[in-house]
Amino acid sequence: GKVLLTGGSGFIASHVLDHLLDYGFEVVVTVRSEEKGRTIVKTLKDPSHRCSFAVVEDIAKEGAYDALFQSTADSGGAEKPFDYVVHTASPYQLHVEDPVRDFLDPAIKGTTGLLQSILAHAPSVRRVVITSSSAAVINPKNHAKVYDETHWPPVTWEDAMDTKSTYRCSKVFSEKAAWAIANGTDPRPNFDLVTLNPTYNFGPIQRGLPRLSSVNASNARIRDLVLGVNGPQGSNPGLPPTAPVFTFVDVRDVALAHLRALTVPEAGHIAAAVARHFPELRDRLPADIGEALDDLPADIYGFDSGKSRKVLGIEYRGLEESVVDTVRSMLSHEDAQ
Ligand code: NDP
Repeated sequence: GKVLLTGGSGFIASHVLDHLLDYGFEVVVTVRSEEKGRTIVKTLKDPSHRCSFAVVEDIAKEGAYDALFQSTADSGGAEKPFDYVVHTASPYQLHVEDPVRDFLDPAIKGTTGLLQSILAHAPSVRRVVITSSSAAVINPKNHAKVYDETHWPPVTWEDAMDTKSTYRCSKVFSEKAAWAIANGTDPRPNFDLVTLNPTYNFGPIQRGLPRLSSVNASNARIRDLVLGVNGPQGSNPGLPPTAPVFTFVDVRDVALAHLRALTVPEAGHIAAAVARHFPELRDRLPADIGEALDDLPADIYGFDSGKSRKVLGIEYRGLEESVVDTVRSMLSHEDAQ
C-alpha cells in the first residue's frame, strides 16, 4: 500500500513515518521545502525503505494538494495511486502573532483543502487519519471528570482571537470541518475518517533536527531541562521546574496508533525523573525539582483512552520511560554537548 503523510518534517510525523515504513508501506511525505524533504529521505532509519517527498509550500492555499494527486493520476500507472492519507501538518507552537494567518487558516483550510483534493483527484484513498488533539476534547473552563472522544469544547471564532486559545480552537475547528466532509453525502467520500486525540507528546526527537532550539512545542520543557536554561547557571534560573503536566503520552505510542488506525477496520514531575536517570545533568536542573508523583491529584481531570486500547491495541509507555528516552535523544544532539 501507499501512504501520503503530510507535515513530514514534524516530530510526531517522524515517528509515524518509521512505523509506516517498517510495516512495509511506500510513503510520500509532504514538506514545505526541498531541504526538509532531502533531510528526511537522507536520514531514514533503513535506507532500503521506500520514501520520497513532495513540496507543498502553503497548505492553506486552495488546491494546495491538487498537483500532487494529479501528477500521480496522470503518470499512467508509473506512480501507484494512494491508498491512505495521514494528515499531521498543522501549526503547533506557543507564539501566536496572527491567529488567522498563522494558525486557523493552515489548520482548517489545510485540512479541508486536503480532503477536497482527495475527493476530486484521489478516489483510490480508502482511509484518512488526522492527528487531532486532546485540545479538541478538553474544556478548560468546565472540566469533565473523565474525557473521551465524545467531548467537544464549546469554542467560538471569537475565542480563537485570544492567542492563549488559538491553538486549541484551531484543532477543534479543523477536526469538526474534517468530520463534516467525511460524513457528507454530496459528494459521498470513498474514504472513511479516523481522528486521533492524543495529549501532550514526549519522546525521542526526530532525526536530522537541525537545532535543539527548534524542538517541537511539547518536548520543549524537557529540552529546557537538558540544556539547563532553568538551572542555577541558566538563562531562566527563576523559572519553576515545569508547569504541571497532568497528562502525557509517548510519541512512539501515538505513532503506533496512527499505523494501527490504518491497518485495523500518567503524570508527575518530569525533572525528578531526569535527575534520577541522568545524575550528570543535576547541576543544570532547578534546585527544587520535587518528587515524582505516582498519583494524580484528586481534583484533576482524567482521560479515558479505552477506545485506543481496545480498537487499536495500544499499550502505553509510562512517563519515566518516555522522559528518559527523550533526554537520551537530546543529549546525543550536538547542541547538548
Ligand atoms: P511539529 O511542530 O514538530 O510538527 C508540525 C508539522 O506541521 C511540521 O511538519 C510543520 O512543518 C507542519 N506545519 C506547521 N504549520 C504549517 C503550515 N502553516 N504549513 C505547512 N505545514 C505546517 O509538531 P508535532 O509533531 O508535535 O505536531 C504534529 C501534529 O500533532 C499537529 O497537528 C499537532 O496539532 C498534533 N498534536 C501534537 C501534540 C504534541 O504534544 N506534540 C499533541 C496532540 C496533537 P515545518 O517543519 O515546515 O514547520
